Amino acid sequence: MTPRVAVVGSGPSGIYAADALIDQGVEVDVFDRLPTPFGLVRYGVAPDHVSIRSVRDTLDKVWDKAGVRFLGNVQVGRDISVEELRRSYNAVVLTYGAAADRRLGIEGEDLPGSVAATDFVAWYTGHPDYRGPDFARLLSSTRRVAVIGVGNVAVDVVRVLSKSEAELSETDMPDYVLETLRDAPIEQVTLLGRRGPVQASFTTKELKELGELAEADVRVRADELDLDPWSEEQLANSKVAQRNLAVLTEWLGRDTRPDAQRTIDLRFFVRPESLGGRTHIESITVERTNLDDEGRLSGRGEFERLDVDLVVRSVGYRGEAMPGVPFDPTSNVVPNVDGRVTDSGGDLVPGLYVAGWIKRGPTGIIGTNKKCAVGTVASLLEDLPSLPVPAGASDVGQLLNDRGVEVVTIEGWRAIDARERDRGQERGRPRQTIASRDELMEIAGTTPST
Ligand code: NAP
Repeated sequence: MTPRVAVVGSGPSGIYAADALIDQGVEVDVFDRLPTPFGLVRYGVAPDHVSIRSVRDTLDKVWDKAGVRFLGNVQVGRDISVEELRRSYNAVVLTYGAAADRRLGIEGEDLPGSVAATDFVAWYTGHPDYRGPDFARLLSSTRRVAVIGVGNVAVDVVRVLSKSEAELSETDMPDYVLETLRDAPIEQVTLLGRRGPVQASFTTKELKELGELAEADVRVRADELDLDPWSEEQLANSKVAQRNLAVLTEWLGRDTRPDAQRTIDLRFFVRPESLGGRTHIESITVERTNLDDEGRLSGRGEFERLDVDLVVRSVGYRGEAMPGVPFDPTSNVVPNVDGRVTDSGGDLVPGLYVAGWIKRGPTGIIGTNKKCAVGTVASLLEDLPSLPVPAGASDVGQLLNDRGVEVVTIEGWRAIDARERDRGQERGRPRQTIASRDELMEIAGTTPST
């Protein structure tokens, strides 16, 4: 009998895993809690990064292959358990990612106007389950923003907040997002790195883009580019850090443009100490920092208060536990050996695998997940001959139907895809993301218009 595998999550890792399995003659069902596939490619990659988002077109081709099905709008752990999947398939691969935000643990973190980057990203990409802060209201009176963290997500946030209407007009953002960003009176966005420019985790291409915006001037401080001995040593061993520092140094000598609408300030060696405000964010206090000879961070006892209306905390994503699946709460991943899930005693859980961010943590670019997923699939294929044949009913579709779960198939996604393209074209854009889950479900029940 043809082996069957369930993949939980249809982001890049899930699709790369499915693709590698189908190529080996395995039948694959890919589950997603959303009615649409592609995970962070759709709801993470910034909409103005059109070429990175076009990875979606490559991933989309997998659905044309024989032996793969998409089961959208199915939340594993709620609508069907991992145990039920394990009984119905030869193996289960978990690729559900790391969707939660990490906390800072400082005073004022929960004041209105202090938001997680994960929320801002979900809002501007039109995530159907977005229930976070009301950005239309918040941004209508935001002049100064502090973004904590110097990773690529922080850079995405700064860029989206700083771009002109014309620069954003070719994106697939929902209309309400474009209108809110257009009307926001933003004058200054400050990016805060707790360590130095050499330790920043943004990449050079993303950094450079901040200096190429139509309406924003970028500023850095000479004293914050001064390197301590530890950073000098790190710089010598990192081509990315060398390229980043060259870009930052070039910006030091730049003239400001009199017609710039806003400024982007890149700050280093400043860590957030507290957020202040009576009923809403009014300021952030940062402490200047040092790195010692072994790279350890310490405060200098010198504090600075920045007046801001909005704080975006962009300090990384965090994986969460799924019911019935082992979880390591320290590293926030599913414990595994080469993608084979292990329990709390370190023993392998037969037939259960993991790939992507929930396997190794929220790092790397989209392509990193291909290698990661292929590695997990190699482990699975090696084990397959010795895995027990599934004992339970193989018709998971029937089970979900009996439970009243409205499954979105690939035809449903094709209908959504066609409708989004049509909507975009009506507005002179390649696509417009539909954000309402009800609307997505309604369209999924129709026939594609193309
Ligand atoms: P990230 O690269 O891990 O960056 C997190 C940032 O938060 C770091 O600068 C970190 O500083 C800082 N941070 C953590 N805890 C902090 C604290 N308590 N106080 C102050 N700062 C703190 O994470 P990310 O930006 O969320 O990105 C996740 C992954 O997605 C990355 O691999 C990224 O490259 C990728 N991504 C790629 C793109 C792209 O290719 N265009 C776009 C978006 C995301 P320390 O280093 O000091 O800890």
